[in-house]
Amino acid sequence: MNISIVGTGYVGLVTGTCFAEFGVAVTCVDSDAAKIEGLRAGRIPIYEPGLEAMVERNVRAGRLEFTTDLAGAVRDSLVVFVAVGTPQDPHHGRADLTYVMQVAESVAAHLNDYKVIVTKSTVPVGTGRKIREVIEKHRKGATPFSVASNPEFLREGSAIEDFMRPNRVVIGAEDERAAEILKDLYRPLFLIETPIVVTDLASAELIKYASNAFLAVKISYINEIARLCEAVGADVHAISRGMGLDNRIGRKFLHPGPGYGGSCFPKDTRAIIGTAEEHDVPMRIISAAVAVNDGQCDLMVEKIRKVLGGLKGARLGLLGLSFKPETDDVRESAALKIIDALRRAGAELRAYDPVAMDRARAELPGLVCGADEYDIAAGADALVLATEWNQFRSLDLPRLKTIMKRPVLVDLRNVYTPEDVRAEGFVYECVGR
Ligand code: NAD
Repeated sequence: MNISIVGTGYVGLVTGTCFAEFGVAVTCVDSDAAKIEGLRAGRIPIYEPGLEAMVERNVRAGRLEFTTDLAGAVRDSLVVFVAVGTPQDPHHGRADLTYVMQVAESVAAHLNDYKVIVTKSTVPVGTGRKIREVIEKHRKGATPFSVASNPEFLREGSAIEDFMRPNRVVIGAEDERAAEILKDLYRPLFLIETPIVVTDLASAELIKYASNAFLAVKISYINEIARLCEAVGADVHAISRGMGLDNRIGRKFLHPGPGYGGSCFPKDTRAIIGTAEEHDVPMRIISAAVAVNDGQCDLMVEKIRKVLGGLKGARLGLLGLSFKPETDDVRESAALKIIDALRRAGAELRAYDPVAMDRARAELPGLVCGADEYDIAAGADALVLATEWNQFRSLDLPRLKTIMKRPVLVDLRNVYTPEDVRAEGFVYECVGR
């Protein structure tokens, strides 16, 4: 089977490469000519563990290719996955479907035979139906096609593992033919008994938003509980463990911190609220989660201010810029929001991240970065741990103490044990403990 993936970003590149690994012939398409040129020359545009070797292997085997030629890719494919961005519309909370609809029009123009057009991008309920309308309007003749939804649940940083061993695959299809073709594509996962949820288009579209919003709610929930812990002198980690061991609750996503960020949760929570508003259904729980998250970075900045007795002129070193470890993605990163607030409050800041410094500098012009953890700590009034890369988990505290102006560690990810850090003579601040 030949398939194409339109949009070769974090999702499209991983999806295309993993399908090629399954033995499928995959063409990855992107409108960004520089990105495609780079990929053809073996340059991977994103940092994702394990991806480079897998791309190389599949390109060499002739199963994976990269092009800007959408027309050719569509003509040769039975299945066309749409994996372009669906950013938040700047004018309201809803998802901007411009790129998705551009692809739908192009697919229509080159529809030469029956095809399944599948949204991998996160798209609001009703998008599949709109794609059908656009293709029917723009296709020449009456070539049959199906529209399907196959939302992606991978996490950046462990994207390959998540694609290869998913908790479930969701397939929303208009008809049996499309559902069977997609099930066939995912056949390698049957061997590991991956549950496949086959449903209608609208339900599949909504499963993605309902899942992301639920995880966002869990994060905001524990962050609010952490605030209460600080007020009453309880330990949020004990609470998370005590709650999480209950199978009905589960242990994941009960870790307090500076709030959720990244390219998905912030926009997807707002988008589901927007969709619900259009149908006069208030999303009170998700709205509360968004409001808690919106205030979380300010609370973190307040913590830093309090421990230093003021921010103006303070010299800070900040560890970690990506929205989470093992990725270079800085979209909606809490670290960047905190840096912005700290700079506005008059702090002098230097940052370090193992892979995300270039992307962060593009977002925050003038951001000063250092060579490593110790370089940015030299002469600092405080070190702020914003993103918990593994290499920040075993900092040499005695060394830091000798090079910092003041031995202050603000650990926004609760990586360290308070007693251990304090025993080294540090002032230590964390979240909810
Ligand atoms: P991205 O910005 O990394 O990649 C999108 C790519 O689409 C870009 O390379 C862009 O050049 C390309 N593109 C845009 N318009 C195009 C067009 N008309 N033709 C061809 N290419 C075009 O985005 P991403 O993070 O991969 O996210 C893609 C979708 O997947 C979004 O809807 C997102 O919500 C969803 N998603 C993302 C993740 C994640 O962790 N990043 C996880 C699950 C779902």
